[in-house]
Amino acid sequence: MTGWDTKLANVLGKSAGKLTKSEKLVTVRDLLDFLPRRYLDINKAGRLSEFEVGEQVVLVATVVSGGARRMRSQPKRRMYQAVIEDADGQRAGLVFFNARGHEQALTPGTTAVFYGKLDSYQGGLQISHPSYSRGDLDAPDLYPGPLMPVYSHVPNVTDAGITRAVSHVLQDLRAQRIPDPVPQEVLDRHHLLSQLDAYQSLHLPIDHAHAARGRRRLRYDEALIVQVALAQRRARYDALRTTARRPLPAGLLERFDQRLPFELTTGQREVSATILAELSRDRPMHRLLQGEVGSGKTLVALRAMLAMVDAGAQAALLAPTEVLAQQHVRSIEAMLGDLAQGGMLGGAEHATRVALLTGSMTKAQKQKALLDIVTGEVGIVVGTHALIQDQVEFADLGLVVVDEQHRFGVEQRDALRMKGAAPPHVLVMTATPIPRTVAMTVFGDMDTSELRELPPGRPPITSHLVPAAKPGWLERTWQRVAEEVSAGHQAYVVCPRIGEEDQATDDESPEWALAADAPQEAGRPIRGVVETLASLRREPALAGLRIEMMHGRMSAADKDAVMAAFSAGDIDVLVSTTVIEVGVDVPNATVMVILDADRFGISQLHQLRGRVGRGSGGGLALLVTDSHTEATLDRLAKVADTTDGFALADLDLELRREGDVLGADQSGRGTHLRLLRLTNSKDVELIELARDDAAQLIAEDPDLAQHPQLAALIAGQVDEERAAFLERG
Ligand code: ADP
Ligand code: MG
Repeated sequence: MTGWDTKLANVLGKSAGKLTKSEKLVTVRDLLDFLPRRYLDINKAGRLSEFEVGEQVVLVATVVSGGARRMRSQPKRRMYQAVIEDADGQRAGLVFFNARGHEQALTPGTTAVFYGKLDSYQGGLQISHPSYSRGDLDAPDLYPGPLMPVYSHVPNVTDAGITRAVSHVLQDLRAQRIPDPVPQEVLDRHHLLSQLDAYQSLHLPIDHAHAARGRRRLRYDEALIVQVALAQRRARYDALRTTARRPLPAGLLERFDQRLPFELTTGQREVSATILAELSRDRPMHRLLQGEVGSGKTLVALRAMLAMVDAGAQAALLAPTEVLAQQHVRSIEAMLGDLAQGGMLGGAEHATRVALLTGSMTKAQKQKALLDIVTGEVGIVVGTHALIQDQVEFADLGLVVVDEQHRFGVEQRDALRMKGAAPPHVLVMTATPIPRTVAMTVFGDMDTSELRELPPGRPPITSHLVPAAKPGWLERTWQRVAEEVSAGHQAYVVCPRIGEEDQATDDESPEWALAADAPQEAGRPIRGVVETLASLRREPALAGLRIEMMHGRMSAADKDAVMAAFSAGDIDVLVSTTVIEVGVDVPNATVMVILDADRFGISQLHQLRGRVGRGSGGGLALLVTDSHTEATLDRLAKVADTTDGFALADLDLELRREGDVLGADQSGRGTHLRLLRLTNSKDVELIELARDDAAQLIAEDPDLAQHPQLAALIAGQVDEERAAFLERG
């Protein structure tokens, strides 16, 4: 019996070799998943004389000459230029700015269908970077309709060759009558194609609508696989039991509340009540708390930790960086006052203690902390990854709080959970609004809460767009910074990358809202931290100010030193990458200049500017851009005009969906979510359907004993996907 995992060579014979060798298409499944990047409509094909310059053209033509050469501007790159001729004998030039693949595929004599925008260049016609299909124009019976698939280039195999291989493999699979992994009843309910029909429609479509139906089925499968795995994970959590933690009355929490100089917001009260109720149950809490920077999440978490201490157990707070861990300890100790001086002279009755545990502490410091943790001396432990290490033992760990989730993987969180005798309760906090698709998928195994309002009385952050090209605007920006500094405040200057020599962004930066979604405009230099530091030190408006830098290539000790100096007010202007994005809290910083703001995603800009205006004076964010593109300026203007992070997250989605449609490239390989776009709100519907279906399937058949095909697909996939998502930031 063969099947989806059969080696291609067993079905196709020797001709499989080229596919396997160059594209690593080893199995039948690999080949079917090698989806066309697009389709060319042969009915739309014309002759060059029928098209005007500036039009998108489809034409059948033959390569008459071609040659690759190095590019003058970038000597490492080779470009490929060819001349094609149509049936009338009329010619046009082709140009590819990266020769790879094209020079092998478009050798003289090759006939193909080309698609691209017709330009005029040096008196002739030219098409830059056309799509093309080397389909089999003499075998119309290969294609059920006018569409010819265009695949990623495979050396020595034409597009038609791939289509033929697929067609053969599909026939072979049909003959085997392998059941569809999704129950027929579910397929019928959602009007979904069978799996084989879906692949057929994608590789051999009758028309575009047919291909779209196939894509819908594959998207549904991707959603279902993730949702079934999540449903299983949820079922496992539901079955877990832990110690119910019932806080003492009149304990730490009560005294803490009495001293709070402000009222909790309604949201804080509601979320806190939910959390405290969950802590007192014997089923471990597993909750995600979303809320803008400054919405008071940390306070909610601290109240939960105090309740835990009141119940006689310990709480751990996991922070993504040393700087943040230290900051948490400082602010928690400040908020607790003598309630954090348990066992010390001047400590309050029933007080607890707070300990810090990070990788850069000395051995002696660590030993002391470890001892206090294992004896239970310390009620609240704040730390970085160091907390997860084997040697850290708790007396009785009842609650784990994870700050800024997106920098921790599920494995790390789980490792910390293992440190409790019984599974601890888990609260995850994130300041980045998570789109609904992502929440349902990546965090779909958790319950969620949101803090939507900011505490009252906080002056909002004002943001302005600064077109750098306009005379005087940039000077005015630096003057504004100088004014803030002379008023006793501090400033951030954020750059998209570190230095001139590297094109990469800062790896340590949490790029959850990937700058990659920002349309990149070629040709403009991107400002880096290193050069900006130098130029600001020469800037007349900033003369005499103390200007320093911070970025991910500096050592942890150097970063900490700079951050400590900035917190202490010993630095006026801090030039940095987005390493400062997460949680850094310097209330005296009141202005942030974001250079090349167009290089950042919407949510990321919002996250960044949340760093200013933490104090009572309000904050100012200046978004500097060189861009002249209307869409880019529009996007930045919207960020400048809106302060609601949730609204911006939605906007982010909308704009990306547009990007998806324009740049539709369905060929992404490597991750399991290939077609489903978590950044695409249209896929919400499919994810919701799949979630309901998954819940029903798992309720009836928790181990999928009745659905072996589906079970096989699911094994191992979700964690990989989540890891991939978290890696991306
Ligand atoms: P987050 O963790 O969501 O960024 P924090 O809990 O750190 O927010 O709160 C930000 C600031 O607002 C802190 O200085 C905190 O003391 C203060 N704060 C929190 N809740 C309130 C409230 N209900 N009223 C006034 N200030 C508050
Ligand atoms: Mg916080």
